[in-house]
Amino acid sequence: MRDFSSDHRWLSLNTATVRKQGDLVEIIEACASHGIRAIDPWRDQVAAVGLDRAARAVRDAGLELSGYCRGGMFTSDAAHGGEVRDDNRRAVDEAKALGAPCVVLVVGGLPQFSRPGSAPSRDIVAARAQVEDAIADMLDYARQVNMPLAIEPLHPAYAADRACVNTARQALDICDRLDPERSGLLGVALDVYHIWWDVEVSSQIARAGRERLLAFHVCDWLVPTRDMLNDRGMMGDGVIDIKSLRAAVEAQGFCGYSEIEIFSNYWWDKPLDDVLRTCIARHRTVV
Ligand code: ZN
Repeated sequence: MRDFSSDHRWLSLNTATVRKQGDLVEIIEACASHGIRAIDPWRDQVAAVGLDRAARAVRDAGLELSGYCRGGMFTSDAAHGGEVRDDNRRAVDEAKALGAPCVVLVVGGLPQFSRPGSAPSRDIVAARAQVEDAIADMLDYARQVNMPLAIEPLHPAYAADRACVNTARQALDICDRLDPERSGLLGVALDVYHIWWDVEVSSQIARAGRERLLAFHVCDWLVPTRDMLNDRGMMGDGVIDIKSLRAAVEAQGFCGYSEIEIFSNYWWDKPLDDVLRTCIARHRTVV
């Protein structure tokens, strides 16, 4: 397992962590000034400054990307099917322009939440089937430009509105069906927030192996959690044994960035430099 205690060479910042404190260009400049070498930007943050300007800012700052957030929200009614496909193809194109190593997929829950305006449904079985078909379609497109897709399983609390793929096993089952040759173009983004509770987490990380482990996200689970979406904790402030999960992915050969992704009303209220300084300190001590 890599030693993170003396530098933050392998820290990446998911830019949603400081989305309230500045636009993407300002975030990139702040990262560069703190010696952070990688980011994972969100599509809305890129759109807000323009794709060309975002790509130039990344290049000028000498940053790498650890992913691109996000593709997915695949579930919809028939009327929104074209929107889903086109939107995801654009995500692949943008990821390519930015030099991202993968597009992170949050697959969508029930259609009315995933693609607002879709006819309401309670059929989560159908939603899961739709997700798999849509990933197959997106993978065909992504393969043409050699852009890996990383399915992020989300904690089951988000099954209705964000993702009906809720465990690493479920995500890896999809990978095995759609990419049995383990081409490197389909894998998982494992976020400690979503997987720490899972009784199968160790065996599924071993099953994933290096080819399927495309991204590793860190934050912490606070007790109590006051907001289901926007009360994630800074690493070390909650109950997740982050080091043991990192050890498990690294035992499979994962050697990429440890990406800090914190959606938090608490941290969005703090000055950008303070958040980055805390992220770096915690990366060294508890990640
Ligand atoms: Zn994540």
